[in-house]
Amino acid sequence: MPLRSKTVLINAEIPKRCDVLVIGGGPAGSSVAALLAKQGVEVVLLDKVAHPRPQVGESLIPHFWKYADHTGATPLIEKEGFVAKAGGITVWNGKIHRIAFAEFGFTRPALHVERDVFDELLLKHAESLGVQVFQQVAANTVDLSLESPKVCYVDRRGNDVCNGRIDCRFVIDASGPSALLAGQFKSKRLVDTRMRFLSLWGYFKHSRFVAADGRSYPATDIGKTRPVTFVTSFKDGWIWHIAMRKITSVGLVINTNRARAMDKAGREQFFLETLRRAPYLDRLLESAEYQEDSFCERPDYSYYSTKLCGENFYCIGDSASFVDPIYSHGVLNAFYNANMTALAVCESLKDPARRVRHAQLCENRIRQFYGFSRSLALGEFGGDGVDAELVRRFMRQVPPVELELMLAASSMSDRSENFHRLVADAGIDLAPSQSRVHFMEELQL
Ligand SMILES: Cc1cc2nc3c(=O)[nH]c(=O)nc-3n(C[C@H](O)[C@H](O)[C@H](O)COP(=O)(O)OP(=O)(O)OC[C@H]3O[C@@H](n4cnc5c(N)ncnc54)[C@H](O)[C@@H]3O)c2cc1C
Repeated sequence: MPLRSKTVLINAEIPKRCDVLVIGGGPAGSSVAALLAKQGVEVVLLDKVAHPRPQVGESLIPHFWKYADHTGATPLIEKEGFVAKAGGITVWNGKIHRIAFAEFGFTRPALHVERDVFDELLLKHAESLGVQVFQQVAANTVDLSLESPKVCYVDRRGNDVCNGRIDCRFVIDASGPSALLAGQFKSKRLVDTRMRFLSLWGYFKHSRFVAADGRSYPATDIGKTRPVTFVTSFKDGWIWHIAMRKITSVGLVINTNRARAMDKAGREQFFLETLRRAPYLDRLLESAEYQEDSFCERPDYSYYSTKLCGENFYCIGDSASFVDPIYSHGVLNAFYNANMTALAVCESLKDPARRVRHAQLCENRIRQFYGFSRSLALGEFGGDGVDAELVRRFMRQVPPVELELMLAASSMSDRSENFHRLVADAGIDLAPSQSRVHFMEELQL
């Protein structure tokens, strides 16, 4: 089916009812909508902004392809020509580690994607499968107390702002960090203050990039030599460097308390000064051009919701939880949640009597993935929000190639102590994966 153009959408009338209403057209929302539409389910998706819209989170690890295969988005992603990346290099407390995805047996590359392009591609793909997509339409309240949920929205597509309501059988909240339903439920919890981080980031043109050989290359070589995602720690946190086709995303993560006393201009100054002082990064950015209006920030992004799925609602992707971007698990988590939810909703539509059971099973799955990501990325979790037994069970089910990559990656920072404890408790041997983590004396930047 040909992709519908935005003009058609602007004039289209929003239906009064549908089977499934998805709130948000990021990777989570687009994917669950696409999967349901493939099964013949009538889906309406609302996004409060018009795509393409800016989004951070440009590093994708190679497991993501299997989810793209499920939705059918793979050929479109391949055709787009995003930057294929070779692996990762971290400089953590002065120690240099390198991994290459090909050594784990992945046959398809990981990617660095411009998220505005990537997310719009997924959304258009969902639409091509029959999802009715309405952009610039924001859901504002959800009434779940009735047999048939009701979602009230504000339609900002035309010159006049209009209010409306859709009745549906299931609501899927994929509203990202806005976490609409968690806000309504008052179920959003921030993690322990020691693990409460803030991110500051911006974009550069003409930055050199690091390749798997530990050397740096000029920005113009990006199509010829595969970059790695480059991560370096500094006194207060860590920094990412992600080279894309024309632009490089560079961001830092620090404890929220560290930035509390600064205003926005102070945070931008801190950001730029930190990059200038960071080992190796100073050299990558030496003749790069900072995009003046590109500075962004996201405070307190590590949270989880205590209520995720119920008989007529599901919260997925960042609307359910977000950990920390260090191991690039955000988009993967969104895709995984979307797959589990599509399955649960399809089964529930077929057999409504079992919908509570399906919701419970799905919630466990979402929590398992969250616990896995959190133990990998946050040094200590103190037990809140994570069921260790669920995570151990999940670890035993992760496909070996994927588990091995995460086991190897967990040695590249000092953030994964919980992960190592759970791995040992689950009876998994960490040692074999370590042979694929290479130590380097120095980078030739
Ligand atoms: C600093 C930082 C760096 C990151 N780096 C990475 C990385 O390198 N790799 C990675 O995989 N992940 C990364 N992530 C995480 C990743 O960006 C997210 O996990 C991912 O975007 C989640 O997808 P989503 O669909 O759940 O939400 P989103 O992508 O946030 O999409 C939500 C959508 O919902 C819409 N919406 C919100 N409210 C409403 C409403 N009321 N009505 C209608 N629509 C609404 C929004 O407009 C948006 O389009 C990073 C995150 C941060 C904060």
